[in-house]
Amino acid sequence: MKISFDLDDTIISGNKSFETERQTLFQKLLGMERIRKGTVELFKELKKRGHIVGIYTTSYRSCTKIKLLFLLNGFSIDFVINQRRHLLKLYGSNIHCSKYPLAFNIDLHVDDSRGVEIEGQRYGFQTLIIEEQYSEWVNLVLNDLNCHNT
Ligand SMILES: [Mg+2]
Repeated sequence: MKISFDLDDTIISGNKSFETERQTLFQKLLGMERIRKGTVELFKELKKRGHIVGIYTTSYRSCTKIKLLFLLNGFSIDFVINQRRHLLKLYGSNIHCSKYPLAFNIDLHVDDSRGVEIEGQRYGFQTLIIEEQYSEWVNLVLNDLNCHNT
């Protein structure tokens, strides 16, 4: 499966608070953002299971910067869709939603937003919503995938 993850408040804590991975001095010096605890473990496990793993965000952070963020945490993500790519892809279409994973052949999108969940119901794409208090979020994602596969 091709799986995308939202960035803000799902992997990077902006307005929400959750535990984050430890940062090296190098990451701190570069001013890199901290990612949610368990992210690297989860992404590696997903890759091991043969999934394609990437980021789908409404932010305008550059794709290079996002790829680097994960590389410095020891993981190479397969794809990045930022707001620029999203808008380019949907330009001229009748689809008006913040995220549209079907346009990028994404099977499952993981996000913190209930609004994205509603868009998924409306436009027919699969979402998994992770609340900030879900400390067991890694297992939640893995269990959800197990349900899809059976
Ligand atoms: Mg978000």
